[in-house]
Amino acid sequence: MQVIRGLGWAVQQADSQQQPQLSQRIQVPAQQTAILPTITVVPVRAGTAYLTRSATVERTARHQTYVLQAKGMLGRGRVSRQAGQHLAKTLAQVWRLPMEGKRKEILWRLGVDGVAGAGGHGIQFSGRCPCGFQPSGTTSHQHRAHAFWDCPVAQAVRSQLSDGLGGLTPQREHVWLLQPPSAACQRVVWQVVALAALNAMEYGRSRLWSQHIQSLNSGDQYASVLLGIVSRAASNFFWSEIQDFVSHQLPCSALSLWQHVGSNHPFIQTRVSVHGCLSLAMNCPVSRSS
Ligand SMILES: [Zn+2]
Repeated sequence: MQVIRGLGWAVQQADSQQQPQLSQRIQVPAQQTAILPTITVVPVRAGTAYLTRSATVERTARHQTYVLQAKGMLGRGRVSRQAGQHLAKTLAQVWRLPMEGKRKEILWRLGVDGVAGAGGHGIQFSGRCPCGFQPSGTTSHQHRAHAFWDCPVAQAVRSQLSDGLGGLTPQREHVWLLQPPSAACQRVVWQVVALAALNAMEYGRSRLWSQHIQSLNSGDQYASVLLGIVSRAASNFFWSEIQDFVSHQLPCSALSLWQHVGSNHPFIQTRVSVHGCLSLAMNCPVSRSS
């Protein structure tokens, strides 16, 4: 105001008493005044939850089915509230793992039965698996269980897990729900390992079908050879996933999670440099590394 006066312009004194009231200045139609009081400020989080509530209900139901199948209880029980919360907590922990999103994606897709070709999205092969497996029904859960547990290619990946654990055989819930199979296995390590296993199974499933379709006219003898080739490729893929993870430097924010991982931990071990810095290294079974 002082600046405007300095320029020599006349400025009218403001008189609050002369200012019209808001209700006088804005003529609000009577039918709108009945609506205006109902308008409130909705937080973004609440608004998003409201708009996506049907998708949330659907996702929760699929997660419950996934947990039941992981525990071998599909059709024979209900998911406890605690088990459902545990999966949600695991997904949140995996989200914060310092690795690329494409390596985490498999857990999200598998959890909602969304792996195309393994029953997801209703996409499944009508014929039998190259290993000979023929689903007895049309439920997508059979295809998921086969591709990510029972198929010989998936079993080859499971044998890598067993080798890494010194002979201990992990159960399906350990892998699908990323639950450590023993107290000696740190949770953060097992989460990386289980994700590597799921990705290796998906890699093997995809490659098995791809090469099988290319040679549909081949006989059973070739199918067995193909299974061996793909099983070895999936096993190598599993270890390459772990190697890739440890080759990246840990961010400072993740160091506290890894400081309890010892220097002789299965699959992934820690090393402390002369400068006191923590780094990771793959701990491969002797039989494999030699
Ligand atoms: Zn199979």
